[in-house]
Amino acid sequence: MIDTTICALATPPGEGGIAVVRLSGPEAYPIAARVFAPIDPNKSVMDARGYTALFGHYRLDGRQMDETVALFFRAPRSYTGEDVVELSCHGGRAMADGLIQACLKAGAAPAGPGEFTRRALLNGRIGLTQAEAVMELIGAAGRQGAALAAAQLEGALARRIGRIQSDLTALASHLAAWVDFPEEDVPQLEDTVLDDTLAAAQQELTELIDGYGAGAALRGGVDTAIVGRPNVGKSTLLNLLAGFDRAIVTPVAGTTRDLVEQAVNLGDVPLNLWDTAGLRDTEDIVEAEGIRRSNRKFEEASLILAVFDGSAPAEAEDRELAGRCRGRQAIAVLNKQDLLEHPGVFDEAMLEGCFKAVVKLSAMAPEARQTLADAVAALLGTASIDPNAGALCSQRQLAAAVAARDALDEARRARAGGFDLDAVGVCVDDALDALYQLTGESAGEAVIDQVFSRFCVGK
Ligand code: GDP
Repeated sequence: MIDTTICALATPPGEGGIAVVRLSGPEAYPIAARVFAPIDPNKSVMDARGYTALFGHYRLDGRQMDETVALFFRAPRSYTGEDVVELSCHGGRAMADGLIQACLKAGAAPAGPGEFTRRALLNGRIGLTQAEAVMELIGAAGRQGAALAAAQLEGALARRIGRIQSDLTALASHLAAWVDFPEEDVPQLEDTVLDDTLAAAQQELTELIDGYGAGAALRGGVDTAIVGRPNVGKSTLLNLLAGFDRAIVTPVAGTTRDLVEQAVNLGDVPLNLWDTAGLRDTEDIVEAEGIRRSNRKFEEASLILAVFDGSAPAEAEDRELAGRCRGRQAIAVLNKQDLLEHPGVFDEAMLEGCFKAVVKLSAMAPEARQTLADAVAALLGTASIDPNAGALCSQRQLAAAVAARDALDEARRARAGGFDLDAVGVCVDDALDALYQLTGESAGEAVIDQVFSRFCVGK
């Protein structure tokens, strides 16, 4: 039983139309009654029904402060499952801070990160994967990423994992019964049923695991390096993607001396772009430092846009770059197509085996943005994501899903190796444990602490 009543600013600090301070806990109503006075003397906070609002003022140290609207939620029909009062005053630090102070003086405790959502979890209002979705939704940069988090908040992932859990639980109990009570007439599990169930569950988990990268890309953005020898059009491409002249574009080789960082939404995918100083050798000390950093960025990037001058023959540096892109998530951009006098000037054969995709465009033409957006979406798999299917949305969930899949793999190998059914049963139990960790049904305090430590205060 939670006996404290917490309060925090639920809106971003700073200037804004309104600021909302949220109270949650057993004393939410009495504290609100001490802080807030309705305009209408016949109304009382203590009698306010859930889902109603009152207009009035908040008070601090006996003084009437800002105009305030109080919104009431009665337990258990609130976000946290407790009594909740949301007080809205005018936005801006002074009034909002005064309101928080008034609540603290009236007996509320300041909320920790994610404490409202944590209470919702403890009160059974939401599951752990949904709690994580709340945070993803707040943090999502792009529209499709937000849709993904919203679907998760609805419980899409929990349902998907739930189906696997119930298939495996049926299997595990059958195996246990058969192993533990051989003298009872437990019908033996048909081999095909056992094998099919294991294979289907493993396949489902593999799909979730494989989809993690695309979902993470949509939510958190993809670190992207734009690379290529000087003058191929990297800065022009960056400006096209960013929509304004962020990098200095000049016709002189070697002018981009440092890394330029730019966050852009390309279609539905947020990209963190780095235009690099090029990867060539140089005598210039400042440029050498830029190149050292470029090399590091190149190694770290999750996506590489390797730019080539598609209107001229490839140079040695181009060939070296292509070689370095082998095995990476890399797209070859054959730029300056508008200058192309006859096809085949650029030796495309040298790109073979080095890139996941090749696109031809002119970075000077606005339509090139869409061409590149399509290629990026296809490569990252974001084009085919169904936000309603349920997806893994944190490293924690990914690790649990991988553990479950590995345990099922073990189970299938035990089957193939002719081991006893109880060995198979142990592996299935391990897989179930991992899935319960994932959904939070058996997650320890430590895991829950870790999840909520990433939350913002006020949610
Ligand atoms: P970087 O050194 O790779 O960053 O190359 P820049 O973006 O600075 O471009 C070098 C030169 O090529 C500039 O004069 C650009 O205007 C020009 N350029 C870049 N992209 C294109 C293109 O698609 N078509 C044409 N015609 N010129 C381009």
